[in-house]
Formats: sequence, structure tokens, C-alpha cells
Amino acid sequence: MKNLKNLKYWLFDLDNTLYSGHTKVFDQVDKKMTEYISKKLNLNPEEAKKIQKNYFQEYNTTLSGMIKNHKIDAHEFLEFVHDVDLNFLKENKALGEQLSKINGKKIIFTNGSRAHANNVTKRIGIKNLFDGIFDIVDSDFIPKPSKEPYEKIVEKFKIEPHYCIFIEDIARNLKPAYELGMKTAWIINDEPWAAEYSEANFIDYKIDNLTNFLKEINK
Ligand SMILES: [Mg+2]
Repeated sequence: MKNLKNLKYWLFDLDNTLYSGHTKVFDQVDKKMTEYISKKLNLNPEEAKKIQKNYFQEYNTTLSGMIKNHKIDAHEFLEFVHDVDLNFLKENKALGEQLSKINGKKIIFTNGSRAHANNVTKRIGIKNLFDGIFDIVDSDFIPKPSKEPYEKIVEKFKIEPHYCIFIEDIARNLKPAYELGMKTAWIINDEPWAAEYSEANFIDYKIDNLTNFLKEINK
């Protein structure tokens, strides 16, 4: 962990990285997406679900597929699908303590919306500990792991990749970060889609528990 002490930039994914229990959020967002597509395209829920999954596979986010194929209003979509119940999320003081000890810029890098990132971090009690949020609007609706948002976030926050680490639960999303010269850390999880490529050489660290990982570095 010694070589992580001189990092100047920390990029954190949001869902399933800064909190676990993502299934509770994901299940709700998932249902809201189906509902949105069903209403928008006038389809029954089964048909809507099929389109939702196909777009997710093909474009990495359902939103990208909806924009490309149906020219929907992205803001309307994001607002609708992220309007979920986050009451299960509790304050995480231990994580907050370790985050506040980190030297360097801390930025949330998410395929979701800024409002969702704010809602989540507020509930966990870590909202004020970040220097910025880079969301799907900032990336012009091109999601990770396309390389464009990685280049954009580097440019926007004047990041020196060699002094940067990216922490994320979806293994494949670490590849472009690694190729830019960043350190990469994967949050161990058994979601098949997220764990695919977890044995790849573009993963520098595997993290069981984010708070403990940061504690090691802050020691
Ligand atoms: Mg995630």
C-alpha cells in the first residue's frame, strides 16, 4: 500500500462502491426503467423489460440505447428512474472518517445522475467530503467503460493519471482507467456481470471492504 500514499486523485464509482446493498437501489431503478420504457414506448412490461436489457447489453446503459433509438429526454429519464427509496442507507461514519483523512482530490465517477449521487452520499453522511461529481450528463451520456468519459474526467479535473486511483465494482470499467495510467481497485463482489474480467491484468488491487482499504493507506 506504500505506493498509494502519494496519490493525488481518487476516483470513486458510486453504486456498490461507496455503499453496498446496491441490489436494493438497483431493483428499484430497474423497475422504474421498465416503467419508463413501457409508458414512453407504449409497451407492456414484458416487452419493455426486453428492450431495457437489450439496450443495457448493447450500449452499456439503458439510457444510451433510449437516446440513440428513441431520442428521449435524458434528464427526464434520469430523474424518473433515480427517484427511489434510499431509507435503507445508513450513515457510515467509519467510511467518512477514512475519506476525510485522504490527501488529494476525491471525485465520484458514476454512470448515474448527479442528483442520485447527492442523495446517496447525503444519506451515508459523506456528501461534503468530495471535490466533485462526474456524472452521465458530464460524460455526454457516453457511459463507462467507453474511453471518452475517462478522458473527459481527466481533462475536467486536471488529473495526472499516474497519481490517480479508480475504485469500482464493475471490473470491466477499470480497463480504460488502467490504460490511461491510473491505478485500479476492484470491489470484490459476485454479481456475474460485474465480476467478469476480475482476473484481468488491468486490476491492481482487489478490495474486500473499502473502509479497511483506506484505513491501510491512511495508517
Ligand atoms: Mg457501481
